[in-house]
Amino acid sequence: MTHDPAAPPPDSAVRVARSVAPFARPFLPSAAAVVVLGVVSSLLEGVGIGLFIPFVHSVDLEAFSAEGQGRVVEALASLFDAVPAERRLAVVVGAMLAVVVAKAAVGYGYGAAFGWLDARVNHRVRTSVFDRLLAADYGALERVDHGPLLNTLAGETWRTAEAVRLVVWAASAAVTTVLFASFLVALSWRLTLLTLVALGGIALVVRLLNGPVHRRAEQATAAKEQLTERMLDGVRAGVAIRTFGREAYERERFARASDLVSRTFYRLSLLSAVLGPAYQVLTAVLFVAVLLIGVRSAADLPVLFVFVAVLYRLQPMVQGLDGTRLGLVALGPVVRRVLDVLAMEGASPSGRLPARGVREGIRFEGVRFAYPSGGEPVLRGATFDVPAGRTTALVGPSGAGKTTVLKLLLRLYDPDAGRITVDGVPLGGLDVAAWRARLAIVDQDVYLFNASVRENIAYGREGATDAEVEAAARRAHADGFIRGLPEGYDTVLGDRGGRLSGGQRQRIALARAFVRDPDVVLLDEATNALDALTEHVVAEAIDEFGRDRTVLVIAHHLSTVARADHVVVLDGGGVVEAGPFEAVLEAGGVLSKMYRAQQPAVLS
Ligand code: ADP
Repeated sequence: MTHDPAAPPPDSAVRVARSVAPFARPFLPSAAAVVVLGVVSSLLEGVGIGLFIPFVHSVDLEAFSAEGQGRVVEALASLFDAVPAERRLAVVVGAMLAVVVAKAAVGYGYGAAFGWLDARVNHRVRTSVFDRLLAADYGALERVDHGPLLNTLAGETWRTAEAVRLVVWAASAAVTTVLFASFLVALSWRLTLLTLVALGGIALVVRLLNGPVHRRAEQATAAKEQLTERMLDGVRAGVAIRTFGREAYERERFARASDLVSRTFYRLSLLSAVLGPAYQVLTAVLFVAVLLIGVRSAADLPVLFVFVAVLYRLQPMVQGLDGTRLGLVALGPVVRRVLDVLAMEGASPSGRLPARGVREGIRFEGVRFAYPSGGEPVLRGATFDVPAGRTTALVGPSGAGKTTVLKLLLRLYDPDAGRITVDGVPLGGLDVAAWRARLAIVDQDVYLFNASVRENIAYGREGATDAEVEAAARRAHADGFIRGLPEGYDTVLGDRGGRLSGGQRQRIALARAFVRDPDVVLLDEATNALDALTEHVVAEAIDEFGRDRTVLVIAHHLSTVARADHVVVLDGGGVVEAGPFEAVLEAGGVLSKMYRAQQPAVLS
C-alpha cells in the first residue's frame, strides 16, 4: 500500500475518508455487500411502513381515500387489489410480518458482513504498520519515539479501522437517505422541502464544530501518546525508579498525563454530545410543523402517519451522517499518525551481488558518516583494514565512533562518503540479507525474547536443529546452567530474558552467535555495565571464533587488545594508529603509552 507523504493532513471528514479508503480497497466486494445489505435492510423497513397504506385501505376505513393523495399512495393502496377482499387484510398483515422477518435476516447478514469487513480492515491496518516498521530505514526508525509509535501500533490502528467503518456506514446511510427522501417527495414534496431545509440547516450548524473537534482531537491524541510514553517508562525503568527513589515523581507524572487524556477526551465528547440534543429539539419542532402543515383533514392522517414514520427513521440516519462527519474529523489526527508511520522512509535498496563471507578482508576507505538525526560527523574520512580470518581490536575513547563502525558494517546506515568494501566489493553492492547472514553480533544490546531458551538460541539461524542449538550452548559454556533451569532448554525466559543473570544472558547471546556459524563476528566489550559483555566472555568468544573467523571487537581492556592480531585506534573521526598489535605497540603511540603505563586498565 502506498501513501503520498506530501498529501495534506487529514483534517476534514472527506480527507480522512479519502486517506483511509486504501485500507478497504482489497475488500471492496465485501464493503459493497455491506452497503447493499444496509440499504436493503433500511428499505425493508420503509416497505414495512409503506404497507400501512394498503393495510388501512383493506381495513376500509371510511375516513381514508387514496384518491388525490398522489400516485405513490394510490399505487400502494391498490397493491393488493388482486387479492379477494375477504382475504386481503390477512394477506397484507402476512406481508407486513414477512417484511419484518426478511429485515431481521438481512440485518443479521449486514451485521455479520460488517463484522468481517471490520476485522479484515483492522488486521490490514495493523500488519501494514508493522511491516513498515520492519522495512523502514533504521535511521528513520531511530528518530521515532517509542511511546507514540507503540500508541499508534497498539491503539490508533484500531481507530483507523473505525474510520473505515464510519465511511462504509456513511455510504449505506447516504444511499438510504436519498431513497427515503425520494419516497417522502412522492408522499408530499411540500413537507419534504420543509424537512430538507430543517435538516440541512442543522447540518450547517454542525459544520461549525469541525474546527474545535479537530483541535481537541489533536490534543487528545498527543495526550495519549504522552501517556503511553509514561507507561513505557514505568515498565522499562523499574530499576532506575526504585534505585533513585523516584516513585512519587513517576506517580505524579503518570497521574498528570492520565488526567490530561481524560480531560481532553471529555472535552471532545462534550462537543459531540451537542449533536443528539440539538437533533432532538429540531426534530420535535420539525414533526410539529409537519403535522400542523400536513393535516388539512382526517383523510390526510394515514399518509401523514407514513410520512412521519419514514421521517422518524430518516432522522437518525441524517443525524448519524452528521455524527460520522464529526467522528471522521476527530479521527483525523489518529489517521495521520498511522499514515506517518506508513510514509516512513524505506531502507536503502539491497545490492544484488551474493555475499560469500570474507576471504581477504574488509576495508574502510575514507569513510565519512554523520547520523541522519544531525550533529557533527562521527567519522571524517576513516581508513583502515579488518583482515580476514584474524581478530581486530577497535580501540578509542568513548564517543570515537567504534559502535558506529559496527552499525555501518551491519548496514544499518550507509556512509555519506568514502566506501566500505568486502574483498574489494563495495558493501552497498552486496545482497544485504545475505551479507547479514554472514555476520553475528554479540553486544550489550542482546535482546532475549519471551520464549524458550531453545527458541532464543535458535533465533541465530532459521532452521537450526535442537542438536545444533545444544552444541552451540555447550561451546558458549551455557549448557550447564540451562540444564539446571526448571525445564531445561524449554524454560521460557520471561520478558527480555528477565529470568537470567547478566552473565547467563551473555552466554545465551554467545550461543546464538555460535549457532549462526558466521564468517564475521562483531563483539562489543563493555567497560562496566551490569548486563554487558564482560572481558571474560569476550576472551572466550575470541578464543572460539578467532581461530578461523574474522573478528572485530570493540575493546576496552588491555587484555582484550592483547588477544587481537590487529589494532585500529579511532579518535577525532579518523584512525590515529593501525596495524598488527606488536607493530602498533612498538611505534610508541597512544596505545603503547596506555599499555606501558598499565593504567588505566580500561582504555576509554
Ligand atoms: P563509541 O562506540 O566509540 O563510544 P559511538 O559510535 O557510539 O561511539 O558514537 C559516536 C558518536 O555518535 C557519539 O558522539 C554519539 O553521541 C553519536 N551517536 C551515536 N549513536 C547515535 C545515533 N543513533 N544518533 C545520533 N548520534 C549518535
